[in-house]
Amino acid sequence: MRNVYLDYSATTPVKEEVLQEMIPYFTEKFGNPSSLYDKGLESKEAVDNARAQIGALINADAKEIFFTAGGTEADNWAVFGTVDKLKEKGNHIITTKVEHHAMLHSCQFLEKQGYEVTYLGIGPDGRINLEELEAAITDKTILISVMMVNNEIGTVQPIKEIGKIAKAHKILFHTDAVQALGNIPIDVKDLGVDMMSMSSHKIYGPKGEGALYIRKGLRISNYLHGGAQENSRRAGTENMTGIVGFGKAAELARVHFDEHVKHCSELRDYLVDRILTEIPDTMVNGTMEARHPGNANITFKYIEGESILLMLNYVGISVSTGSACSSKSLEPSHVLSALGVPVEMIHGTVRFTVGDFTTKEDIDYVVENLKNIVEKLRMLSPVNAQKGW
Ligand SMILES: *Cc1c(COP(=O)(O)O)cnc(C)c1O
Repeated sequence: MRNVYLDYSATTPVKEEVLQEMIPYFTEKFGNPSSLYDKGLESKEAVDNARAQIGALINADAKEIFFTAGGTEADNWAVFGTVDKLKEKGNHIITTKVEHHAMLHSCQFLEKQGYEVTYLGIGPDGRINLEELEAAITDKTILISVMMVNNEIGTVQPIKEIGKIAKAHKILFHTDAVQALGNIPIDVKDLGVDMMSMSSHKIYGPKGEGALYIRKGLRISNYLHGGAQENSRRAGTENMTGIVGFGKAAELARVHFDEHVKHCSELRDYLVDRILTEIPDTMVNGTMEARHPGNANITFKYIEGESILLMLNYVGISVSTGSACSSKSLEPSHVLSALGVPVEMIHGTVRFTVGDFTTKEDIDYVVENLKNIVEKLRMLSPVNAQKGW
């Protein structure tokens, strides 16, 4: 049986070049980067090299990159570090209804502590309304956090415009760029962001590694306390293999950026075209303009996305409904709800995300199987029986 992985937004395999870069740091290059002898210095140099590789991908200085244990920690640090630092100034945060749970649940936690959070909605294009953002700002607002690219529908937020508004009001601006990294061009200086979250395992690096970009001159409170690692800003002995792997993955993402975007968007467009023309009663959620190059979020009316997922799994195809993190809950996707998709259609939605190892043959295999599966499920669907399908 063919195996087709179409869930690159959930995670990606580690590329061979990345793995090769990592291996010596499990074995002979095991030094602690805080140690002062050569074996330690060798590791410290590797950490700084990775920092520069990540900086180069987003036009940041190496010193503005702080390693974390993933995108989730970067999001948590940005929020909790900012509110702690600015607690004298205010208690209001502005974010969106469509953030990743790493941000949403952090904000909900803060609400329980007495903070006020405004959750902005999105329009049919998946974007927030800038006037609504500006209207939500009060003299107590200390942080604006808006994700760059949505993980479910792949839509891109107007980050540069948000950055200008934040700056005009002297409010710190954080963006979760985990899905954006390597998939859309990012220049932190041009975008005017103060903090930006990144994750290694979404760009063909290892899991459990990430980074927070913190603009030069900005000091937020520390989140992890302990040793003096990361310029005394994030404690804990460095995850050497993770860091080296993330750095290499970032370098590959930078060097092969155009190829990657072209490859993914061509295959994604091919998948979307075939589904929309060959399978009746299907629709794409979110605009196809300004979108993650690998993302297709598609509703199959009158049936359950969960059933499609399971039946695709029987034939070796991996996809998801909503995001990987919410796949075990029965709650309808908060992102599709915010987009205004009716509940019954949300339940019929599947997220396909293609990546560097996807081929045209993979897409053909998926579409052929989908046609069968959707037809079978619709024959069984009580909704269809009632409608005389
Ligand atoms: C995956 C993801 C995260 C979490 O990153 P981890 O490294 O898995 O903790 C945060 N935000 C977005 C948008 C994501 O897609």
